[in-house]
Amino acid sequence: MLVTTDAIVLKSMKYRDTSRIVSVYTRDYGKLSVIAKGARGPRSKFASALEPLSRVVLVFYRTEHRDLHLVSQCDLRASYRRVTSDLDRMAAGLACLELIDQTAHDEERNDDLFGLTEHALEILDAGNVRPEVVLTAFKLRMAAAIGFATALERCAVCGRPFRKGGCEAGWFRLATGSVMCLECQSRSRATGSSGGADAAALVRLSAQTHEALERCATAPLENLASLAWTTAQGNEIHNAARLYLHHHIEHLRPLKSEELLLRPVIRSSTRRT
Ligand SMILES: [Zn+2]
Repeated sequence: MLVTTDAIVLKSMKYRDTSRIVSVYTRDYGKLSVIAKGARGPRSKFASALEPLSRVVLVFYRTEHRDLHLVSQCDLRASYRRVTSDLDRMAAGLACLELIDQTAHDEERNDDLFGLTEHALEILDAGNVRPEVVLTAFKLRMAAAIGFATALERCAVCGRPFRKGGCEAGWFRLATGSVMCLECQSRSRATGSSGGADAAALVRLSAQTHEALERCATAPLENLASLAWTTAQGNEIHNAARLYLHHHIEHLRPLKSEELLLRPVIRSSTRRT
């Protein structure tokens, strides 16, 4: 059956002399592998549309119970040039795609996840929000889109809000994605009750880190332009998000592209010498 859908190219591999096998995340059918015959030929009608980070309209022959579907047509809708021409933005964009590739199930439609991926690439391309902020927001929202949203606004035990004169620092509970204030945590330790949380699955959050994570999880992405963090805070944020995803997603592998993004200090000091 010939079908048409919006898609984002996740990975692209050469196949035989002139073809490509491409992993795509589609709006209507979730993650799929497709084969584009003749895609690398000199007069290919697919041109550069099948490169990672491309947003395309894909027409393909969908065959039930097949792992590989044949591409009929592929039209480029956005290539996010600002993302592909800036190393940090490209690293963040590719890390988002790696996460989709590792977590999305084959042929399982998820409108929220597709919309989030498309929007994150648009925001990266617009250039106002820092790439590490976009990636952190993407991780927390992806978690929500696949069923384990965080709830960082209030202490899960006493219900006090964290900001606006409420409690300050706290503990992130990986199992539930909620936070517990310092008082509730010390009370539960004193009474020997864990407040429903396994002590090994708690991550200490400073007030700034908590606020950054909460904004990343809930504020519209385009409103995060003012958000920036120091290297130390960035490590804390990265660690909390990483542990949270690993707690909920089995066999999640480290993101190769993210390693590029985590080394800005090394890169800039190398440039100066
Ligand atoms: Zn509390």
